[in-house]
Amino acid sequence: GPSTLPVKVLEQVQKDFVCYKSTGMSVIEMSHRSGMFLEIYNSAVTNLKTLLNIGDDYSVLFLHGGATQQFSAVPLNMPIKSGKALYVDSGSFAAKAAKEAKKYKEVEIIASSKNDNYTYVPKFDVDSIDKNADYLHITTNNTIYGTKYTSIPEISIPLVADASSNILSENYDISKFAAIYAGAQKNIGPSGLCVLVAKKEYIVEPMSNCPILQSWKIQDENESMYNTPNTFGIYVANLVFENLLSIGGVTEIEKINRYKAGLLYDFIDNSSLFKGTANKEYRSLMNATFVTGDENLDKEFVSQAAKAGLVNLKGHRSVGGMRASIYNAMPVEGVEALVDFMKKFELENGGK
Ligand code: PMP
Repeated sequence: GPSTLPVKVLEQVQKDFVCYKSTGMSVIEMSHRSGMFLEIYNSAVTNLKTLLNIGDDYSVLFLHGGATQQFSAVPLNMPIKSGKALYVDSGSFAAKAAKEAKKYKEVEIIASSKNDNYTYVPKFDVDSIDKNADYLHITTNNTIYGTKYTSIPEISIPLVADASSNILSENYDISKFAAIYAGAQKNIGPSGLCVLVAKKEYIVEPMSNCPILQSWKIQDENESMYNTPNTFGIYVANLVFENLLSIGGVTEIEKINRYKAGLLYDFIDNSSLFKGTANKEYRSLMNATFVTGDENLDKEFVSQAAKAGLVNLKGHRSVGGMRASIYNAMPVEGVEALVDFMKKFELENGGK
């Protein structure tokens, strides 16, 4: 769900809320076609392009319906070669994306880690995939299980990625992707908004049954404004982009993210009580999943942590245990406080 945003951004939103600059109105009162809002929109597009290091061969769109809406939009919009799409099943969102695509085309799951409770990102042989498939869909970070791709597959068919839970957290070579989408609520801004970054050559006439709001072509032609966009979401996203640029962009935040995740994983790896649940090779920089091995003790940990001000540590309802989501805006101090609390809990519960 929604996650930490930079305090500086929240304070700016508060400052602007009643009256944005000298307009005499709030951003949520502004026409989306007004010069003032178009300035915000264009700035958001430019800033995201700078952060992702992409040029004019890509379109950036701000769409409705979170990442889930794009589960359906991807099969409806990606150019058709054979009508078949390939999916990697690396977590429950990846599975949901594939399930939705099956409504519109033939889907082949080329690799799955489901039988191992998604503790790793499954590998596949890049040379043996169907070269006639329309695209391959991957999920760069598996939010619930705490795993991520360590390298992006080099394939000869278009690659589409759901990057909802790790966009802007580490450098990716975006030129390897035909399209990337991300629900905004982790590293970008308010929920409900979805960012789509698509190479222009893949923005074509969609399938004839494509709902108009899901048409990448229509949205691209209308600069995300076929209907009224989520103006407030786009404004907050732009503040987050400006803030990230001001601290040195993705390269700088990646260093901080590696440091934060390192603090937590180093402690877990040396702990006599806590155990990481994701395979070490694939561990996420954004979501660290761990257990004590005793469900009641896990519950006790989550409850005591909440009393100490460390909230939202309960693992996803489908897996249990604990999950620390340490997105871009979680400060190093937050991770240090968690590690200190885990040390204390370990000592109090028979650990060494
Ligand atoms: N994909 C991933 C990887 C996610 O983490 C999430 C939500 N946490 C979704 C898709 C669904 O996003 P939304 O709720 O914005 O539709």
